[in-house]
Amino acid sequence: MTPAHRRPTRRGVFVLGGGLFLAPVSAAILLPEVRTPREAPAAPEAHTALRPRAATASAAPPPGWMPGIIRKPIGTNFSRGGRQGQRGLILHVQEGEGSLFERFSAPTTRSSAHFWVSQAGEIEQYVSVHDRSWTQRAGNVQWVSVETSGFAGKPLTTAQVNAVARVYVWGAHEHGWPLEVTDSPQGRGLGTHSMGEGAWGGHACPGKIRSGQREAIMRRVRQSSRLPSPSPASPRVPLT
Ligand SMILES: [Zn+2]
Repeated sequence: MTPAHRRPTRRGVFVLGGGLFLAPVSAAILLPEVRTPREAPAAPEAHTALRPRAATASAAPPPGWMPGIIRKPIGTNFSRGGRQGQRGLILHVQEGEGSLFERFSAPTTRSSAHFWVSQAGEIEQYVSVHDRSWTQRAGNVQWVSVETSGFAGKPLTTAQVNAVARVYVWGAHEHGWPLEVTDSPQGRGLGTHSMGEGAWGGHACPGKIRSGQREAIMRRVRQSSRLPSPSPASPRVPLT
């Protein structure tokens, strides 16, 4: 580092110190003290690995929240309670990339999803599955929703397939989602936004490519050693 580069730093410290007689050695002591408290809280948010930070993973989540993922409750854009059962999980495509937390937290957005899965396989949950996310209109009372980062013209990454399968395994255990794909709003299992047609908003989401990957997701679900036998013996919870 050249003296020319050092000078602005010293000037800044002199202003903070309130006098021209502050010695450089004092500046060296002061600077780390100022920086440390600002930098410390930011570090735990920098998660790039598939697994979330230990504090989130180890804390027992409240009812309706999946353990071991990134929990980011939104304060708006969903309805508390009012569910009429648990038919399964609806696959959506984001048509964009990056966490949806900020967008779903904005009151003007008027939509949300229970889960979001990044292309690296990170899972964020925004809404308890005991509440209604605003995703597929008439389907909100009986279905749980998962948004997937990326575009309808491109397939889910392998990490996304595995992550959606993780969500499904949890739902199968917690809510008796059957280990099957469905294309009917009156069915149960892993469905698509488009299957609800006009009553669900008339969307083509998540497109043919990602819809066609549901069998691959279900294969991963069935491979999970955490699950009991996949077929008719799978747990079923009656709709209420
Ligand atoms: Zn959708």
